[in-house]
Amino acid sequence: MDQILIVGSGASAVHFALTVLKKGYEVTMLDVGYERPEVLCPEKNIDELKECLKDPVDYFLGENFESFIPPDYGAEYYGFPPNKNYVLHKPRQFDFSSSGFAPLFSFAQGGLAEVWTGGVYALNDSELDDFPFSFKELLPYYNEVAERIGMNGAKDDMLTFFPWHENLMEPLNPDYHSSMLLSSYARKKNYLNNKFGFYMGRSRVATLSHDRNDRKACTYSGRCLWGCPNGAFYTPSLTLQECKKYSAFKYVSGMYVSYFKYNKQNHITSVMAESVQDSTLHEFPVNKLVLAAGTASSSKIFLESVFRKTGEVIKLTGLMDNRQILVPFLNLKMIGKECKRDSYQYHQVAFGIKTADSREHIHGQVTTLKSALIHPIIQSFTLDLKTSIFAFGNLHSALGVINLNFHDVRRDENYISLNVDRDFSRTALLINYKPVDGEKAVMEGAMNVVKKAFLKLGCIVPVKMAHIRPMGASVHYAGTIPMSEEKTAFTASKYCQSHDFNNLYFVDGTTFPFLPAKQLTLTMMANAVRVAEEAL
Ligand SMILES: Cc1cc2nc3c(=O)[nH]c(=O)nc-3n(C[C@H](O)[C@H](O)[C@H](O)COP(=O)(O)OP(=O)(O)OC[C@H]3O[C@@H](n4cnc5c(N)ncnc54)[C@H](O)[C@@H]3O)c2cc1C
Ligand code: SF4
Repeated sequence: MDQILIVGSGASAVHFALTVLKKGYEVTMLDVGYERPEVLCPEKNIDELKECLKDPVDYFLGENFESFIPPDYGAEYYGFPPNKNYVLHKPRQFDFSSSGFAPLFSFAQGGLAEVWTGGVYALNDSELDDFPFSFKELLPYYNEVAERIGMNGAKDDMLTFFPWHENLMEPLNPDYHSSMLLSSYARKKNYLNNKFGFYMGRSRVATLSHDRNDRKACTYSGRCLWGCPNGAFYTPSLTLQECKKYSAFKYVSGMYVSYFKYNKQNHITSVMAESVQDSTLHEFPVNKLVLAAGTASSSKIFLESVFRKTGEVIKLTGLMDNRQILVPFLNLKMIGKECKRDSYQYHQVAFGIKTADSREHIHGQVTTLKSALIHPIIQSFTLDLKTSIFAFGNLHSALGVINLNFHDVRRDENYISLNVDRDFSRTALLINYKPVDGEKAVMEGAMNVVKKAFLKLGCIVPVKMAHIRPMGASVHYAGTIPMSEEKTAFTASKYCQSHDFNNLYFVDGTTFPFLPAKQLTLTMMANAVRVAEEAL
């Protein structure tokens, strides 16, 4: 059987790898692969952890207070915890510049989903309209990935937007605030559905509500943001560990892949990688090459390869990302209630707003405030510190953050290319993004519905405190080499096989022809399994 060389160990790479390993292929995975630090006091919950740690300030805010978010309107509501900095660390070989886009990259074992918030949503037929396959064709792979990662969800009103598939566990126990929201919704749903096209229900999350194999069910320890200590919350490094059990799997970390070499027939012959440690150059022969380094990095490897061979600097157009808005809210019925920190920390409630074109519906997640870092919220109170802390004590359990997501389409003005040094010795990734005309009106319309719908649920949404995140911040990059039935340059087949190089496949977001509002990673993983099953 052919040998397969995969670049990356993120969500898409590990599910592709596991499928081809099961089919009997030999697999080499090249990765920069920064590793997660040791989990401290794994058996403790969030409160006990503070007692157990030698230096809690260092753990929660960082040696140099890098997770402290200074007062600044429009700033993020969450900071990355210091123990997850390794996920966003960049090797010195990688450089980029961007305009209108604030990108994040990961070079960690498991990639960006080592810090994700685990929202996993299958796409329905209208969202898959531009894809060369239907929901029914993707369904077996959604079922397979759901079984592998362990995810949960409910058959509720969110079926309007989230199609059902197999292997969903029952939802986690909701925290009290999330239950209050859902029961308010149950009483008002006819009005909300008819007046605003607003639907609410349980979000779907990649977390175990039951023990499964060697992974334990969620213990409601409240430590999600700092990294789940018992594997209840899914991250791709868990699947990487599974791949490592196969003798046909070779994982080579510490390698930054720069480009591939190809012959006159556009057949790739090898991959060139630089050691992250000592910058030595290594050549790996290629039979079949699978790029799964994340859309931006996979695009960079493609661009650099063409540049090295031809001297040509190409633009890969059609880059997409979801615009996101974060806005806090106050649930009046929750004021003064006790805040229980030993609960699941991320979103447990999702909502959707219908639009004229069903592909463009607005997707929302609601995170009630429990043990997440609270200072970015306290500092936004326009009171002195003492009064703010007193007010916060009474409001803590009543606060939450709404995360609104909007779809994106491929447009020529949004692209990934290269910046090349004067002496042609060094290249950097170049990203350009310009929002679509009329975006402001769409966001205002959605915020208006959110404000009114949440008011009906007994919540105040201070629209002025909404933070419109810069493009790039949602980290759902896609679309630079789309699947296309026409065999044109810089496109891929239905099976994500490059139309430019016949032994090259992309299994991350690179080949998505459309980006719905719902987060893309479950579909990326399912698509990677589909390609591994059907194309090889
Ligand atoms: C805070 C946060 C929350 C998120 N929440 C959600 C969510 O709730 N739901 C959701 O669906 N998505 C979410 N996402 C997005 C999700 O994490 C990404 O879609 C997903 O991780 C992308 O996976 P990927 O396979 O494209 O690879 P990536 O995660 O981008 O990983 C890239 C891999 O390739 C390797 N690599 C890259 N370049 C090279 C190179 N040149 N040489 C060698 N190796 C290389 C890296 O080491 C890494 O292993 C979130 C992201 C963030 C940051
Ligand atoms: S998912 Fe979160 S709450 Fe559940 S066990 Fe893991 S860290 Fe604790």
